Amino acid sequence: MSNTTLGPGGHWRNWVGNQSFVARHMATPESEAELAACVAAATRQGLGVRVAGSGHSFTPVVATSGLLLSLEKHAGIVSVDRASKRVTVKAGTRIGDIGRALKQMGLSLANQGDIDTQALAGALSTGTHGTGATLGNLSSQVVGMRLVQPDGSILDLTAEQDADRLLAARVSLGMLGPISTITLQTMDAYNLKEIVWRDDFEACMERHDELAASNRHFAFFWCPVPESRHLYCLGDTSSVSNTPRDYDVCEMKTMNFTDAAPYTRAGGFEKVAYSSEIYPIEYVANFHELEYAVPVAHGKQALREVRELMLTRHRNCIYPVEYRFTAADSGWISPFFEQDSVTISVSGGPGIDYWDYLRDVDAILRRYGSRPHWGKLHFTNADDMPRLFRRHADFVALRRRLDPQGHFLNDHLRNLFA
Ligand SMILES: Cc1cc2nc3c(=O)[nH]c(=O)nc-3n(C[C@H](O)[C@H](O)[C@H](O)COP(=O)(O)OP(=O)(O)OC[C@H]3O[C@@H](n4cnc5c(N)ncnc54)[C@H](O)[C@@H]3O)c2cc1C
Repeated sequence: MSNTTLGPGGHWRNWVGNQSFVARHMATPESEAELAACVAAATRQGLGVRVAGSGHSFTPVVATSGLLLSLEKHAGIVSVDRASKRVTVKAGTRIGDIGRALKQMGLSLANQGDIDTQALAGALSTGTHGTGATLGNLSSQVVGMRLVQPDGSILDLTAEQDADRLLAARVSLGMLGPISTITLQTMDAYNLKEIVWRDDFEACMERHDELAASNRHFAFFWCPVPESRHLYCLGDTSSVSNTPRDYDVCEMKTMNFTDAAPYTRAGGFEKVAYSSEIYPIEYVANFHELEYAVPVAHGKQALREVRELMLTRHRNCIYPVEYRFTAADSGWISPFFEQDSVTISVSGGPGIDYWDYLRDVDAILRRYGSRPHWGKLHFTNADDMPRLFRRHADFVALRRRLDPQGHFLNDHLRNLFA
């Protein structure tokens, strides 16, 4: 493939606009063969290669000065094995499109996150998760993956034949090669009943363990002031509230299996629908988010300290704190590697100087051995890696073996994984 077939380069920016760069070439392959040819052509020229999903990461995980690939035209369902409920999907498929296709097939994803506009490969590559104390992140539903190697060959990983390397690839930020297709373990279709309400912070803390244990999904947003709710487009739950207050409160949510037919009640605060129609909520691009996975035993104490920080030193930082649960998994560099966790996320408002606030939150959360969400702002550095990830050295060794020239790295990733 010649230089020109890679296509001209251009400027790229992420969804929220805090990351941007100029790539020398851009390409939008429509098949695995085209994807492989693009990768081989770029590496022959000594260029770096990165793939953009839907650009919903806040960190520089997509950046490249070489070839930037978009797989938006390499999307759709490849095959379905009805007996095993395994579904193979092209890497650029949006999560929402997967949900709509699965509904037609009588299947569901086991869990998903707050939005469904990410490309599947982009979402699982950073460890994207939903909430549920017994439920793993999205990548823990992966049972097979095809990755393009620097010479354009295909590395075909399956849970049966190459389980360990598949665990490395599940969360790999594009460093083991562009993902072409992904096989997901799905389950029979289910409806969820969602209930949303508001309660005082202390009441929420008191019920924390019980609500996490007795519901398939439990999560909440802590809001220091009434205005916080609007920043994340959260509904006004005063009509279904357990408290007369609208400050220092938790906007709570549970979701559980139900046999009931779809309905919506109480101003939308009680709802039944097909699984993938319940999970997503709406955000506007007005926040820069940091998130860490905190060992579950320390979750409440870590949240108390972040709350205290916001009520005292950083009173101008009023975005809600989101608090969710995710079960341990085995992905080598997954934020949830062998550790049941809660995730605590905070956001800075674009245009205000929020860096000291994020650093103070990092100082609290790192004391508890917390790990970063790779797609959200964090202060994790190379020195932290071996302590946080027992298999970090294995990951680096595998990455070097598959990509000795480092074509699939960028500066941000080189610091952590070279
Ligand atoms: C509004 C909003 C809501 C969010 N909600 C949640 C949530 O509920 N839970 C959660 O955990 N996170 C959440 N996130 C974070 C988001 O899910 C992650 O950052 C996710 O990785 C973004 O997916 P993407 O498709 O935009 O990928 P990108 O951000 O474009 O890319 C992410 C990484 O994947 C790599 N990549 C993309 N495609 C491929 C491929 N085909 N092969 C190899 N590597 C590839 C990229 O190079 C990059 O390293 C949210 C973010 C936003 C902005």
